[in-house]
Amino acid sequence: MKIVIKLGTSTLAYPNGCLNIKRTEELCKVISDLKNAGNEIILVSSGAIGMGVGKLSLKERPTDMPTKQAAAAVGQCELMYTYDKLFSEYNHIVAQILLTAEDVRHDERHEHFTNTLNRLLALGVLPIINENDTVSTEEMGIGDNDTLAAVVAVSAGAELLILLSDIDGLYTSDPHHDPDAELIPVVGELSEVMKYAGEPGSPLGTGGMKTKLHAAALCTAAGCDMVISNGAKPMLLYDIAEGKAVGTRFLAAGKR
Ligand code: GLU
Repeated sequence: MKIVIKLGTSTLAYPNGCLNIKRTEELCKVISDLKNAGNEIILVSSGAIGMGVGKLSLKERPTDMPTKQAAAAVGQCELMYTYDKLFSEYNHIVAQILLTAEDVRHDERHEHFTNTLNRLLALGVLPIINENDTVSTEEMGIGDNDTLAAVVAVSAGAELLILLSDIDGLYTSDPHHDPDAELIPVVGELSEVMKYAGEPGSPLGTGGMKTKLHAAALCTAAGCDMVISNGAKPMLLYDIAEGKAVGTRFLAAGKR
C-alpha cells in the first residue's frame, strides 16, 4: 500500500520546541517496520519552525516573518538530521523535498516533483516533505501541512493518508473542554461534519480541524482514504494500515 503520513509539530516536539525523543524514535521505528512489510511510505513532516524555536532558545513561536523563516531554516536541518539518524538505524534512506505553492500549481514543476517522488520510491527511499518555509508565507504558500499532505497524497496516487495529531480524531465538540464530546469513527459525507471544524490548539503548530477537513475533501475526492489519529500512540499506525477502526476515517469517494 502507498501511504502518506503527516506528522505535526505537537507530535514531534514538546511545547518548548525541543524534540520529543521517545515519541520520535518510536514513530521512526514503526514507520521503518511498515516499510519493511512492503508498504511505500512518504512522510510529510512539520516541525521546522518549532524545532528552530527550540534550537535557537526563542521564548515562543516568532510572529514576524524573517524570524519565523530563520527559525525554519535552522529547524529543518535539525529535523532532517534527526530523521536521517533514526531511520539509518533501521537501514532506511531518507530524502528531503521542500515545496512551495508554485511548485504544486505549475504543471511542469509539479511533474518534476511527482517524477522525483516516484523515482525515490522505486529506489526504496523514504521521501520526507515539508513546505519550503524560507520562501513561502502563510498567505501566499500552501499554508499548512495538512493541505500539503493531501496534495502529496493525490500527486502520489496514495491509497491512504494518515494525519497524526495531538487529538484522537474528529469530535462532535472540543474534548478538552466538553466532557460530552464524542469521537466520530467514520465519515462518509464531509458536508455533515464541517460544523465540527475548530481552531488550532497548540502553541507551535498551525493546523486544526478546519485544515484537516479541507485535506479530507482533497484526498477523498481523489479516491484516497484519510485517517486522523493521535501521534502520541505510534503503535496505532499498524492498526490503521490494516484498516482497523482507529481515530476518524474519512472514506474515499466511491467507497461511501
Ligand atoms: N511547515 C511548517 C513547519 O515545518 C509547519 C506547517 C504546519 O504544521 O502546518 O514548521
